[in-house]
Amino acid sequence: MSTQTPAITKDTARHVLWHYGREGGFQPGSFTRRLMEAMDAADIVNLAILGSVYPELAAALYTAKNEPNGIAELQRIAGGLRCIRCKDTDGPFGGAPQQPLCEPCLKAAS
Ligand SMILES: [Zn+2]
Repeated sequence: MSTQTPAITKDTARHVLWHYGREGGFQPGSFTRRLMEAMDAADIVNLAILGSVYPELAAALYTAKNEPNGIAELQRIAGGLRCIRCKDTDGPFGGAPQQPLCEPCLKAAS
């Protein structure tokens, strides 16, 4: 895989959230749906090949699957993430991925 991390757009974040059935997701067209299925099923060699052509989508799928707070990060990009305590949408967020807390609330809670 490339060492560069492409910026993940709002649309791609929403598509990947949809792919994993997470809140904030939005169903893409049939091509993108099938492309995400193929990337999700691909071994590392084939994922690298697909990622060289679709780097942003590969980065978003990788983030969702492998980063500790990947789903929360995609939800933040998609604009669907809210602090469970103050309902603010400003990141960065911490806490458990299912219970995001904004930085001030996270400090207040610890
Ligand atoms: Zn908060």
